[in-house]
Amino acid sequence: MAIRNIRTMDEEVLRKKSKEVKVMTPRTKMLIGDMLDTMYEAGGVGLAAPQVGVLKRIVVIDIGDGAEPLVMINPVIYETSGEQTADEGCLSLAGKCGQVTRPNVVKVRFQDEHMDQKELVAEELLARAICHECDHLDGILYIDLVEGELRDATYEEDDEEE
Ligand code: ZN
Repeated sequence: MAIRNIRTMDEEVLRKKSKEVKVMTPRTKMLIGDMLDTMYEAGGVGLAAPQVGVLKRIVVIDIGDGAEPLVMINPVIYETSGEQTADEGCLSLAGKCGQVTRPNVVKVRFQDEHMDQKELVAEELLARAICHECDHLDGILYIDLVEGELRDATYEEDDEEE
């Protein structure tokens, strides 16, 4: 496993559409492991493959609730409901945040790292993270959706110790 370089918002790769993953290969497995390492190292709650420069439809998410990290391959949000508005940030734009409105509940279909088909109903922070990371796969960034100004993030220490 290795820490990969996180691409920043001025880089064109973040604006491209990622390609579907058809088969799991050792190389893709390694990518997923590296994405998890990179996300944890950077203290993020999610990371999408284009953020490490790879245009594949893969995201990893860990909102720090003690659950196993989510690895989603080819995720598709097929139903949403409700609304939530909160601050959002992105590892590709360190130190900034801005207010974004997202659905409060999402239903998502994806494949896991064994390419088994899965479904998940997520709400609140997890729903937000899934929306944010899935957007990355289509070249959409939260700064496109932000309401008002981007602000400097003030990090609060939360003690969701791992
Ligand atoms: Zn992001």
